Amino acid sequence: MSQDLITFDEIDKDGPQQRARTYDIPVSDLQGDDVLALGPVSIDVTVAKGDGPAEYLADGTVTFTADLTCARCVDPYPFANHASFHLRFAPRPQGPTQETEEVELTSGDDLDVEFYTERQIPLRELATEQIQLTIPMKPLCDERCLGLCPQCGKNRNREDCQCQTLISDERWGALKDFREGLLKKRES
Ligand SMILES: [Zn+2]
Ligand SMILES: [Zn+2]
Repeated sequence: MSQDLITFDEIDKDGPQQRARTYDIPVSDLQGDDVLALGPVSIDVTVAKGDGPAEYLADGTVTFTADLTCARCVDPYPFANHASFHLRFAPRPQGPTQETEEVELTSGDDLDVEFYTERQIPLRELATEQIQLTIPMKPLCDERCLGLCPQCGKNRNREDCQCQTLISDERWGALKDFREGLLKKRES
């Protein structure tokens, strides 16, 4: 048996399979450019037979640290995550009924369904996929990150700039236009 793979045949034969592995996954394997660096990724997973025909259930955790780019101030910041996942592996539906079958399968319970064509789960790919899902769509160094000044480009977490009054003037201006627009609508 391979340490990097759980095959459904070995589950059928020997019962649930558990593996704990740690991988070095290059940042280039991830989509998007928010991840600057990725530390070792640990995955611990147990796969057992599910209720449906040829269905398997995977329960596990993925633990990793990374450096992400803040979407507001563009500064790198450390990100640590320990996430659990519950997946149902079902055979990929065949033929023209594919779409309706997918809908039925996903509405059955709240597990995420993955369709397989090969009867095995490569753990490195599973870990990569889970990291991808765990990384925020819009990473923020802090919920209260002030971001960059849209006018002078200074990082407003670190220094004040003189543009702030101008910005609020613009906001008031926009509000005034909006009000005038409303009044015009009412008049017409
Ligand atoms: Zn930030
Ligand atoms: Zn500024």
